[in-house]
Formats: sequence, C-alpha cells, structure tokens
Amino acid sequence: MIRYLLAMLALGLAAPAFAVNAPADENVPTEDHVTFIQVGNLIADPAKGATGPAIITVREGKITKVDAGSTIPYAATDIVTIIDMSDKTVMPGLIDLHVHLTGDPGGDFWKQATEPTEWGVVVGAKNALLTAKAGFTTVREAGSSQYSAFSLRKGTAEGVIPGPRIIAAGPALAIVGGHGDTTGFKEDINDALASGYSCTGPVECAEKVRKASRAGSDIIKITATGGVLSQQGRGLEAHFTDAEMISIADTAHSLGLKVMAHAHGARGIEAAARAGIDTIDHGTFADEAALKAMKASGSALVPTLMAFQGVSEGLGKGIYTPVVENKIRETLGSVGKAVTMAKDMGVPVAFGTDAGVFDHGRNAEEFALMVRHGLTPREAVISATTLAAEVLGMEEQIGRIAPGYSADLIAFDGNPLEEVTVLEKIDWVMVRGRVID
Ligand SMILES: [Zn+2]
Repeated sequence: MIRYLLAMLALGLAAPAFAVNAPADENVPTEDHVTFIQVGNLIADPAKGATGPAIITVREGKITKVDAGSTIPYAATDIVTIIDMSDKTVMPGLIDLHVHLTGDPGGDFWKQATEPTEWGVVVGAKNALLTAKAGFTTVREAGSSQYSAFSLRKGTAEGVIPGPRIIAAGPALAIVGGHGDTTGFKEDINDALASGYSCTGPVECAEKVRKASRAGSDIIKITATGGVLSQQGRGLEAHFTDAEMISIADTAHSLGLKVMAHAHGARGIEAAARAGIDTIDHGTFADEAALKAMKASGSALVPTLMAFQGVSEGLGKGIYTPVVENKIRETLGSVGKAVTMAKDMGVPVAFGTDAGVFDHGRNAEEFALMVRHGLTPREAVISATTLAAEVLGMEEQIGRIAPGYSADLIAFDGNPLEEVTVLEKIDWVMVRGRVID
C-alpha cells in the first residue's frame, strides 16, 4: 500500500523526508526513498523546447523517470516526498564554466600575504550556497587559492555544505611573473607566496601538469596570456611559448584531463587553440585567425562577459591599482565582439562568468549579455546546459532532464527560451537530489 506522506509543499520550501511506518520487508533498503516533482512546464532539453506538465521521479540523487502529465506514478516504497512545482517551469540546473568560489570581488591584492589559504574555504562555502541558489548546479572552479577548491568540491559532493557540483582546477599554471603567478611584491615576498605552479619550458610545464593531476585537479587551468586583475605589467598577449602550451595540452590529455586557458590577446588565443587547449576563457581580442584556429581544434569560447561588467562597475573608485585600471580600460571597447564573431564562424560559445570578479550569485546576468552580443535566448540557455555539459565531457550525466541523469533541477516563472532574464530569479533548486535551502 502506498502512503503519500507529504502534502503539497509551499513554494520554495524543502521537502523533509519522513519515514513513517517503515515497511516490514527487510529487503527494502533504508535509502529506498522516492521524490516526485510535479512540474508545470518542463524543459527537459532546451534545444527541444518546453513540453508542458510532467512528473519527474528522483531516487538516490538521480532522475529515474520523466512522465508527461500530472499523474504521480506508482512507487513500491513507503517513503515518498512530493514537491509541488506545478505552477513553475522546471529545467536542468545551470552550468557555469568559469567561477572562482574562493574569492570575492575587490579584495586588495596584498591580502594574499596576510590571509591564511584556508580562508578561501570559508569564503567558498558562502559562495557555493549563493551560486546554487542562483540556479547553478555545476560549476567549473577556474583557479583557487592553492587547494581550497578541492575541499569545497568534497564538501558539496558529500552534502556537508550546500552548493553546486564542483569541477575544480586548483592552482593555475602561469609563466614566472605572469597572470596567476604572485606579482606586485618584493621578489623575496613573491617567491614566498608563489603557488608552485609557474613553469618555464616544455619539460617543467609538463611536470606542473602532472603535479596538478596528483594534487587532485579535475581540469588544468593555464593563464595563456596576461590578465587584467593581477599586478603583472606585461600586457594581455601570449605569455607561454607555443612549445610550452603544446606540452601542457598534450600532457593533460594523456592523463585524461582537459585544459582551460585564460586568454585575452589574439595571438595567445590562436596559440592556445593550435596547441589543442579545450576552452578559451574570456577570448577578449579574438580575431578571425584566432577563431579559425579555435574552429579547427574544436575549442569552445567561454566569454565571461560578466567579468567585464563587474570590473567596469568598480573603475575609478580606488579599488584597482593603476597598473590594473590601465589593463581594464584596454579591454572594455572589445567586450562581446568575440561572441558575435564566434557565432558567425561556428565556434561553440559556452557559458561562463568569472564570478568572484563580480559578486557570486549574479551569474545568470550573463545570459542577457550573451543575447546582447548575438546569441538567441535558446542558444544562451543551451550554452549553460547541454553544451556546457559537453564541454565538461559530462553530457551523459548533467545538462538535461532524462532518466539516468543527476537530479540537478531548477524551478522558476516564465520561459527562458523567449526571455533569458527570467533565469535571474530562481525559486527552487535541487542538486544531486538534495534540495538547496
Ligand atoms: Zn577567472
């Protein structure tokens, strides 16, 4: 006999799982708990559009069944939760391919000399919750203070802290004195604060990839060109040599790891793409030759338009040092042009924001910027679901609502395939079958 133990839940409230009158059959495992989500309008796969009412069945963190209509299917268990989203749109959870959970915007650069590395975990736990509540159920952590992102990754995976699934790079590989290396202090202080991941020459760079792999990186992050928010004053063009980038890409791929490259200057983007690096993040000054190289190598562009939005909001307020302000101003006239060109040339544009450069939780504001630069609302939504999942090599696990996929779900009002800004207000989030509240 089935007993539905929970009444409909008020919007936004988590469903407590009651186990009343546990069945006598000892073969029923205690984790035999089923959750039914009543959906008003289902978008199971953004490419295919909305399909109306549905019931999603979730067991042990995974979607096991998706039924059209509103009839709750039979469940051979006494432990049932029903979540009422019958007046909401429900979609796969969003994926942000470029965040820095362990940092907040506007921090003085010298704080790296005064704050313990573990502080990043505390800041990161706060930001993991903000990010999940904003509808992002998977993030790619694009470089953290030493290994703090690995602790966060374990924390959200085990449900010890609420937050998204984290695909973590750990420390980024950089050239000595480049973006990602410690700069701006006296040399002996720079050395003392260094992460241990700068490298010179193909052999040492290969060694650092293997070191990152040993430390637990899910993906290798490199700063292929200069960067805006570091104190390094050597511009925004290529920093690694071609031989170093090829060594990094080949070594990572031989270990089954993908590579993401921070890159602004066109020649640095081109060299990174030629080396076989999987995503070009920022891609600010990408020109036709750079995008052709990306198309040839299958590299995706992760434009992080919100990063520029965030830094432009802070300009002239004494937040940035003069060397950084100059680099910011250099970029602002070009923001978004690469997105339009990439789309025209058939280079995939995948969703990533650089949250941490702006306040965590504002990630979904990226959608409107993508649309402003030429993506359709549907393309923008695909960029943060099925396409982002493909970029991660996780297209069989996340990015759509189907049996066997992780129960990563969001609910909200409206249709993002027509108006992307509806994704800026998410009412309910589930990550790996756990409700975030
Ligand atoms: Zn970044």
